[in-house]
Amino acid sequence: MASLNLNHIYKVYPNGVKAVNDFCMDIEDKEFIVFVGPSGCGKSTTLRMIAGLEEITAGELKIGDAVVNDMEPKDRDIAMVFQNYALYPHMTVYDNMAFSLKLRKMPKEEIDRRVKEAANILGITEYLDRKPKAMSGGQRQRVALGRAIVREPKVFLLDEPLSNLDAKLRTTMRAEISKLHRKLQTTFIYVTHDQVEAMTMGNRIVVMKDGFVQQIDSPRNLYAFPCNKFVAGFIGTPQMNFFAGKLKLVQDKVIVTLDGTPVKAEVPVDYFRKVDRSYLDGEKPVTFGLRAEHISADPDKYEYKAQCRVSHFEELGTDCQIYADFNTESETTVAESPTKVIAKAAAGEQFASDEVITVSMDLSKLHLFDAETEVTLAPSIPESVALPCKVAKNKLDFAGGTLELPAAASAADGEYLLTVPVGSLSFGGLLEGTFDREENINGVRLIHIAAGNRILFAIQEDKEKTYKQGEKIKFALDPKKISLTDKDGNKVVCALAEDNKLDGKVAKQKVQVLGEDGKRKKELLFSLLTSEATFPCSYSIGMRLVAGGGQNVFNKNLEFVFTPYQVHIAEEGIAANVNRVLDYGAESFAECTVGETTVYVSVEKDFNAKEVKLSLDTDNIVIIEKEHQIRLV
Ligand code: ADP
Repeated sequence: MASLNLNHIYKVYPNGVKAVNDFCMDIEDKEFIVFVGPSGCGKSTTLRMIAGLEEITAGELKIGDAVVNDMEPKDRDIAMVFQNYALYPHMTVYDNMAFSLKLRKMPKEEIDRRVKEAANILGITEYLDRKPKAMSGGQRQRVALGRAIVREPKVFLLDEPLSNLDAKLRTTMRAEISKLHRKLQTTFIYVTHDQVEAMTMGNRIVVMKDGFVQQIDSPRNLYAFPCNKFVAGFIGTPQMNFFAGKLKLVQDKVIVTLDGTPVKAEVPVDYFRKVDRSYLDGEKPVTFGLRAEHISADPDKYEYKAQCRVSHFEELGTDCQIYADFNTESETTVAESPTKVIAKAAAGEQFASDEVITVSMDLSKLHLFDAETEVTLAPSIPESVALPCKVAKNKLDFAGGTLELPAAASAADGEYLLTVPVGSLSFGGLLEGTFDREENINGVRLIHIAAGNRILFAIQEDKEKTYKQGEKIKFALDPKKISLTDKDGNKVVCALAEDNKLDGKVAKQKVQVLGEDGKRKKELLFSLLTSEATFPCSYSIGMRLVAGGGQNVFNKNLEFVFTPYQVHIAEEGIAANVNRVLDYGAESFAECTVGETTVYVSVEKDFNAKEVKLSLDTDNIVIIEKEHQIRLV
């Protein structure tokens, strides 16, 4: 039993292939995690790094409390099951299962107990004397599982273990592995390219593409709230329908139109409460997604209706799948039409080719994606809300009430668009709204606050606090996080940059020091160099830089990323000129120039120097290797 922590893990193969990028995840004890994605997306590489079969390029891997980056596979207390069972053909099932324990010189009685118990769990007791060749594929895979079970590992790693089995056996073994997980009460990590396997087995699923994690979520959330078009299309059969279209806000309704079709629907704006309103202008191209199960050939099933022309249909026994086109005049075949649609009908229904039918749609299940980036327009936790506001005499008047603008966020009188990031809202304060609803998003409490005629979002850290419908909520806005945009699109107030960036290098030096035993010994000292200043850095950070960047890390260009709180005014350090001091009321920041770069530094309220030296908090900053964009620390 063990938890795992993958902290900014990267894998770059010697040939330069960047197979895994910035993989971050906490896996809890006893979870069943599935890594899924198309071939080549980096799932096996990640699993092999966890197993210790592949070196980790950068990042930190913990199993339980121990950092295992440099630990041998045999010491990691894990067991791996592969697609090809890799059984020894000349050994009996018993000996195959006992082999690794014999190597460890475990007492015979203990080996016997473990092998028999595993055989019992897997239902292969009667085959213990057989050789693998006298067994079916499913039975061999069970032996391979048995060989892992007898080791009583903390973590089970399974790499496409069912791919060699036929479809029927795969379904049975799927259920058996889930059962096994429940019985063994330990952590499982399972790799597959099959989304059905992922959906049916995982407590949580990691969807990967091109070496990047796309989304980590429960099967239900992946299906209901895909974070981008790729995940939306990858999860679920038949594949989600996608269409190009536009959204236009007219009073409290949004008019949804599908390009190249007469399809038009007026839906309540509340369906899109998390969507940035700039997408509701009737012009910005949007990609719609709607699953077949939310489009019915029964015109009365859902509220919104549209016509489509049937191409053909498939009887599936449980229901019927219709292939059609929302463009009833379309000249192209359905497969090539951008307005093609798959809808559902009841089992046994019949449709004629070219018949124009009326379907009904559940548009509360409509997914929206940016046409270019393909990222969802309604993320589970929205980044920010933009809403109209007025400024008069430095008082900001918006949906939630009025707010005194501090000097650093001041603007001329007028009307603006106010951007309120979710992280800028905190509870308690002078502004007031009413509790509308609450969502639990993977343990994060997102509170919807009705303010004026808009909804604002805030994250409630307090696990105990409960709300009643319509309850008044007091909240505050962090002035350094908001921004104001004028009618011409100019940002007149910008949120304070959360991160500063400076280019630099790392250096090492061997020095002689006096040990506690009075003997001289050599020690490595690391330092970070940037903007003609040098800062000592801890040995552990130095070693992580070497581990991730290789021995030639000392020649590499690095980027130091740090918040305004991780840099301080000091006696020695980076020479900087102060342009101005930003006064946010409760906090002040100096806007400094270092060479060509602007750096923001948290300062005392009465700060007024013009030239300063800056010191970096080297224990806490982020360090990126620039050429390959690898986060080393
Ligand atoms: P998946 O398991 O998702 O199919 P892999 O983790 O096996 O993907 O591979 C991810 C990427 O890394 C692929 O582009 C693959 O070609 C590459 N790759 C895998 N192993 C090696 C290797 N030993 N050397 C170089 N490139 C590799």
